[in-house]
Amino acid sequence: MAYKIPLFNLNFDDREAQAAYDTIKSGWISTGPKNAELEEMFAKMLGAKYAVSITNCTDALHLSCIVCGFGPGDEVLCPSLTFAASANCVRYTGATPVFCDIVGPEHINIDPKDIEKKITPKTKGIVVVHMAGFPAKMDEIMAIAKKHNLKVVEDACHGPLSEYKGKKLGTIGDCSAFSFFSNKNISTGEGGMFVTNNEEYAAKARLLRSHGMSTMSYQRATGHATEYDITELGYNYRMDDIRAAIAIEQLKKLPGDLEMRLEVRKQYLERLSKIEDIVVPFADNTEFVSNYIMPVVLMNSTKERRNRLREYIHATGIQTSVHYPAIHRFSIYKEYGAVLPQTDYVTDNEFTLPMYAALTPEQIDFICDTVEKAVNEIR
Ligand SMILES: *Cc1c(COP(=O)(O)O)cnc(C)c1O
Repeated sequence: MAYKIPLFNLNFDDREAQAAYDTIKSGWISTGPKNAELEEMFAKMLGAKYAVSITNCTDALHLSCIVCGFGPGDEVLCPSLTFAASANCVRYTGATPVFCDIVGPEHINIDPKDIEKKITPKTKGIVVVHMAGFPAKMDEIMAIAKKHNLKVVEDACHGPLSEYKGKKLGTIGDCSAFSFFSNKNISTGEGGMFVTNNEEYAAKARLLRSHGMSTMSYQRATGHATEYDITELGYNYRMDDIRAAIAIEQLKKLPGDLEMRLEVRKQYLERLSKIEDIVVPFADNTEFVSNYIMPVVLMNSTKERRNRLREYIHATGIQTSVHYPAIHRFSIYKEYGAVLPQTDYVTDNEFTLPMYAALTPEQIDFICDTVEKAVNEIR
């Protein structure tokens, strides 16, 4: 069944199709001039020194963990209320993710107090996630990192152009990763970006994304190089120019798209804040944010009731989701034995409402009416 109001819709028109077509016609479709253009645009947009385009965010997170020096025997702190890639990336390096709790339903990002509690002599870093594009408590987190000499990786998948005290998310830690997966704020199907202000990290990420090769095909095809050496054990984490061309069109639309999402969020907040026992996380945020998703948390409730509520809402043609099924409960992480009471409550009682620029005021009203009815009728 197709939902009348989906969770997300692509902000695509003829420009993305034309950009892909033009790139195909140009004769160069793998990593080349379009990637270079995209990287320059992206770095400039964030006010960051370096941006390196990557196959997807998961691989950008993997490279982040490598350049930060995580490895076997190390512990890296991360939230559990996020997508699995935020913890899996730590394991790719042989290090161990140690799950930290979130602050609570009003602030569903990692809790600096729990970070401090979980630091051991083995702790080497923190992976921070900015849920829905709302900043984690970066001042506290960066102060803890400085005190204990930890590296900070920002999983900024949800937050392109989001701000924290005037700085763009993804430019505060040691390095960061963005996603261009279909349902993200910037959509290319698959795609991602590694961002850093550290020259050495940028050079290493660039090398590792292409097999550790000292030159790229494009440099050789354009006569800038004739041979290559392999200087590191690298990967193939390159983005092709077809996707980069689509990303460039998406970046041009991003500020306008986010302005419209702000209006959607505003209308949601006005309506939802009047419904008893519903908490909208980050309701007190006043900074510019990307509004990647629209999470709400039911208070004094249960997982079973949340699920029935979602079924009720789905029956009216509105899609919802859960962000996220907590990682520490997945089969491959159960043995870690993490105890995270706030995360447990939110993962059982959260659901996510539709969020995209083209949502109309009438649609938002209909969604809020439906949520209100569901909350009142389902006990
Ligand atoms: C989407 C997402 C990822 C993974 O991004 P891909 O580009 O699909 O690899 C990682 N972390 C978070 C928080 C995400 O939302």
